[in-house]
Amino acid sequence: MRQRVLILGGGSGGTILANSLDPRRFDVTVLSESDQHLFQPGLLYAAFQGSRARLVRDERRLLARHVHFVVDTATVVDLEQQWVETAGGERMRYDALVVGTGIRTDPGQIPGLAEIGARVGDYHSSVARARTLWEHLDGFRGGTIALGQATAICKCPPSPIEGILLADELLRRRGLREQSRLVFFTPYPRPYPAEPMNRIVEPILEARGIEVHTFFDLDRIDPEGATLTSIEGETIDCDLPIVVPPFVGAPITYVPGDTLDENGFVRTDQRTLRVLGSDTAFAIGDATSLPTSKSGVGAHLEAKVVARTLSGHQANFGGRTHCPLDLAGGRATFVAGSYDAPVVPAPPSRLKHLMKMAFARLYWLSLRGVLDPAFDVYFRLTEPPVTAPGAG
Ligand SMILES: Cc1cc2nc3c(=O)[nH]c(=O)nc-3n(C[C@H](O)[C@H](O)[C@H](O)COP(=O)(O)OP(=O)(O)OC[C@H]3O[C@@H](n4cnc5c(N)ncnc54)[C@H](O)[C@@H]3O)c2cc1C
Repeated sequence: MRQRVLILGGGSGGTILANSLDPRRFDVTVLSESDQHLFQPGLLYAAFQGSRARLVRDERRLLARHVHFVVDTATVVDLEQQWVETAGGERMRYDALVVGTGIRTDPGQIPGLAEIGARVGDYHSSVARARTLWEHLDGFRGGTIALGQATAICKCPPSPIEGILLADELLRRRGLREQSRLVFFTPYPRPYPAEPMNRIVEPILEARGIEVHTFFDLDRIDPEGATLTSIEGETIDCDLPIVVPPFVGAPITYVPGDTLDENGFVRTDQRTLRVLGSDTAFAIGDATSLPTSKSGVGAHLEAKVVARTLSGHQANFGGRTHCPLDLAGGRATFVAGSYDAPVVPAPPSRLKHLMKMAFARLYWLSLRGVLDPAFDVYFRLTEPPVTAPGAG
């Protein structure tokens, strides 16, 4: 009999996994709260370059024909009785469950942030918000832009640095840089969270005259005067605040109750990707508690590991990350590491930037698994050297 696999979330990870499972062996259902699929990396260019590229596609068309697609919201997941309840009142049973519900912005954690986000937009939640932010940047005629992440956990860790560098590029192109002050703030003790990347990032920030405020734990924003205040009492006054909001997991009730960690992320075994305490449930992508960066590349590789495990093969996730970092000016680098290999900064180049741009076009194909052989070779060739066996 075919195994019933229920996948929660039709994002990057859920879609890749669904398309990777053999229909002769698996009866696959994707349950997702939206019938649309958003290419999230494109939000950066919609917000900072006014790109009008199409970022949203119909999820049904991205899934293989054999996959059942249900548009509804998972509200309760009972890992002991093996069922999922939905907002629409359905109770769905499964043999194997995979949670891929991602993370969402939670501006309510910071007083004033919801008002700021509604007014000036952001580039981590929706196309509409990214376009609002572009309108503000497009209309900016000089003054202070403050950009940073509100809390330590950030979807796509390169994105705050990418944002400030693209803002700098925009102002230079428009001849507005002289009359503008750019401030980058971060709760970390250095601009880029992974220490080795600062060998590349810090000199660039300095050369471009971008002020960096480290240890800046955003406490509140005065939306009227656009003053950002940290927990330590430091303030940044600005004309345009661009804040990467806090993130939380999907609001789902789990049984047992300790399935989620203190941030609302699913407690997941780092190597097997099984939900801790469960033999029949896995988690992939941003929704997990894994100590890796929350990225589409991670979700992709994790989906492949779970597909192999479900198919009866021995498979483990090594914590591989490989995030492109756009340094503006047509150059990029990659942040590549794993549990056993600390991040090694790759020399910035135009080729890496072209690769990042090319991926935006290839993303939709990658969801169907069409590019898997090329990815396998690429990831093998770019495997960072192991220097700390067993770390992480
Ligand atoms: C500005 C920006 C730039 C980025 N750049 C890059 C990059 O260059 N490279 C890279 O690798 N990554 C990048 N990312 C990150 C990448 O987009 C995410 O890490 C990736 O999409 C995570 O995949 P996922 O499957 O875990 O979650 P998602 O793709 O977010 O999908 C989650 C899915 O779950 C569904 N869902 C949520 N709650 C429920 C529920 N209760 N019931 C049912 N369904 C639910 C959602 O509707 C969604 O379909 C970027 C992100 C942003 C915002």
